[in-house]
Amino acid sequence: MTTVQTSVLTINGGSSSIKFVLYQTGEPLERRLYGKVDRIGLSGTNLTFHDGTGKPQKRHNIVASDHKSAAKFLIDWLEGRDGFVSVRAVGHRVVHGMKHSQPELVTQKLLDELHRLRPYDPDHLPREIELIEAFRQRHPQLPQVACFDTAFHRALPRVARLLPIPRRFDTKGIQRYGFHGLSYAYLMEELARLGDPAATKGRVILAHLGNGASLAAVRNGKSLDTSMGFTPTAGLVMSTRSGDLDPGLAPYLARTEQLTTKEFYEMVNHESGLLGVSEISPDMRDLLAQEAADVRAAEAVALFCYQAKKWLGAFAAALGGLDTLVFSAGIGENSPSIRARICEGLGFLGIELNTSRNAANAEVISTDASPATVRVIRTDEELMIARSVCRVLGLGAANKKIE
Ligand code: ADP
Repeated sequence: MTTVQTSVLTINGGSSSIKFVLYQTGEPLERRLYGKVDRIGLSGTNLTFHDGTGKPQKRHNIVASDHKSAAKFLIDWLEGRDGFVSVRAVGHRVVHGMKHSQPELVTQKLLDELHRLRPYDPDHLPREIELIEAFRQRHPQLPQVACFDTAFHRALPRVARLLPIPRRFDTKGIQRYGFHGLSYAYLMEELARLGDPAATKGRVILAHLGNGASLAAVRNGKSLDTSMGFTPTAGLVMSTRSGDLDPGLAPYLARTEQLTTKEFYEMVNHESGLLGVSEISPDMRDLLAQEAADVRAAEAVALFCYQAKKWLGAFAAALGGLDTLVFSAGIGENSPSIRARICEGLGFLGIELNTSRNAANAEVISTDASPATVRVIRTDEELMIARSVCRVLGLGAANKKIE
C-alpha cells in the first residue's frame, strides 16, 4: 500500500518580504521546505530557501519591483519543487480581520470583504489580497485559508476595545483590534502542551518582543487586553514604530514643522522607536553591542525595557495578578539581558528570575520559589497558520486544538 503525502503551504507577506513554509500534514506537521523572497521593491531582491533539515539551499537573485511580480516568481518557483504536487491548501497570514474571530476559507465573498477593508489596513491588506489572488488565479481549485492576526483578540471586553474618542467613530469600527494574534494563539497552545494550568485557568501575560512588539493580557485562555490598538503602530516602543504617543504631537508638528499626514505616518512607523531614539539601528543586538559606548543606544534600550515593564504592570493590574509570563519573538527569546531589565524590581508581582536559567534562555527562567512562572517560548506563526488550515479543512491529523 502506498501512502499519499499531502502538504500545506503557508504564506506570510510582510512589507518587503514573503515568507513561505511547506508542511507535510500529519501528527505533528513536518516542515519540509521553507524560505523567503526578500527585499521586494528594493535592489537585490532574492529568494532563499532551506530544506526540512534547515540546510540552506541555493539563493536566487530575482527582479521583483512589487509584490505582484514577487508572488508570480514565487509561484513559478514553487511549482517547480517536487513537493508542490502534494499541496492541498494554502494558508495566508492576514493582518487585519476586523470582526472575524476564526481562520476562514477564502471565498469570493471574503475577498470582496477584504477589498472593502483595505482602508483599515492600507499597509498590509492590499499586498495580502494580491498574494491570495495570485494563487487563486493560477490554482483556482486549491483551497486557501485566511488566518487573521486580529482574531485572537476578537473577544476583548468592551472596555478594552473602546477608544476614548467621540462615540460615532466606534460605530465606524474605529476600536482597539490588537495584532500578533497568530503568535499569541501559538504561545497559548504551547502553554497548554507544556502543562501550564494558566493556559486554561489563570492570568497570563504574553510578551511578543520582536521588530514589532506587543503584550497581551490573557485570562482563562481569552485575550483581556493588548498593547497594540487600531493599528500595529500603537503600544510599546518598537524597532522603528513609536508605539503610543501624545495625540497632541500630530497637530503640533503640523503647525510648527509643516509635517504632512504622510510624513507623520512615515515618521511614527519607519523612523521612530529604537531607530529614532538611537539614531544608530532598529536592531536590538546592534544597540546592546553599542550601549556602553553610545548614550543614544543606551537610552533606546532603557526606553524599551522601561515601557515593557510599564505594560507588564498595567496588565498585571488588569488581570488582578499574574500566574505566568511568557517572553517570545527575537528579543524575548534571545536576550537574557533585556528580560532581566524588564523583570527587575517586579518581585511585588511575584516575578523572580533565576539568573542562570535566564542566561541559558531556558524554558522556565523563574526561580522554583517564584510565585509567577516566567517562560521563554519560541513562537511559530507559520506553524499556527498550517494548523489552522488543517483544522478548517479537516486535513490530516493536524495537532488537535488543546482546550
Ligand atoms: P520580526 O518581528 O521581524 O519577526 P524578530 O522576532 O526576528 O523580528 O525579532 C527581531 C529582533 O530580535 C531584532 O531587534 C533583533 O536584534 C532581536 N534579537 C535577535 N536575537 C537577539 C539577541 N541574541 N539579543 C538581543 N536581541 C536579539
